[in-house]
Amino acid sequence: MLLADYRPRPALVTKTTPIERPRFPVIDAHNHLGPEFGGGWDRRPIGELLAAMDAADVRVLVDLDGGWGEPILDRHLGLFKAAAPERFRIFGGVDWAAWADHGDGFGESAAARFREQAARGAEGLKIWKPFGLHVRDQHGALVKVDDPRLDPLWAAAGELDLPVLIHVADPVAFFDPLDANNERWEELHAHPDWHFPSPPFPPFLSIVEALANLVARHPGTDFIGAHVGCYAENLGWVGALMDRCPNFYVDISARIGELGRQPYSSRRFFERYADRILFGIDAGPDVDTYRLYYRFLETDDEYFSYNGQVVPGQGRWYIYGLHLPDDVLEKVYFRNAERIILRKR
Ligand SMILES: [Zn+2]
Repeated sequence: MLLADYRPRPALVTKTTPIERPRFPVIDAHNHLGPEFGGGWDRRPIGELLAAMDAADVRVLVDLDGGWGEPILDRHLGLFKAAAPERFRIFGGVDWAAWADHGDGFGESAAARFREQAARGAEGLKIWKPFGLHVRDQHGALVKVDDPRLDPLWAAAGELDLPVLIHVADPVAFFDPLDANNERWEELHAHPDWHFPSPPFPPFLSIVEALANLVARHPGTDFIGAHVGCYAENLGWVGALMDRCPNFYVDISARIGELGRQPYSSRRFFERYADRILFGIDAGPDVDTYRLYYRFLETDDEYFSYNGQVVPGQGRWYIYGLHLPDDVLEKVYFRNAERIILRKR
């Protein structure tokens, strides 16, 4: 038998606690409603979308797919925000391809462009992971995450009092050699384009250290580090940055597989940084995924799949519930995002 065919079914007899509705209402701070990641909700009736959110008690959903081209932003604002203003926040973005035209003045032009997006209704800025991996300047040189030419953009977000939700790098294993020691070998074997070996790509640590520099240099701008601060494998590193930078927050989206395999460290992390962690799933407004996250955060269930599959796709391990106390749950589900994203302070 090939290892790839091996599907061991756990013989453990443990409890399963279904959580249909969360302990407190939820703000989903990291999700997508565009065609690529969001499940095509931009082509379905708004009533279906609201019904899915209601079924999981999601009061507000942050749609990160506003993009930088005004037709897309206007489309998302029209489809979602105009239809149910209290239920959605749409984030804008940066058109990196314009760097070639603007040269060293690109930061100023991106800032101006974001101000325009904000004037149209964008309520935050999303930075996608090509930043630090693929984005190039007018000379064709890779742009570092802490490139000072972009300072006007980060400063503009602070002046507008809008948060920046930033994703740089990717799982650490995506930067490791693709060999018998790589903990995500199966996933990378299936998706070779997710592998970022160095060279030619910068090492993982150089990217996240540049993120730390960026956040420290702009204390007046709130940054939300996507996917547990872009380094869920190392909560000590993320916590140290949160200690240094009160303007740094994290979302937990797409990382319960990481958090749940280190339940003791994760629980301590949630308790210590209870005011700085935002809920999000990054999987479209999918009711089953919401319920899996609720089970992970609320119960002490043991050794379950983090995506429902016997062999989950992001590494061959299972997770443990964190059984978080009510005061932490309320902050993570709702209160923190109310402050940082809804700007109710
Ligand atoms: Zn996302």
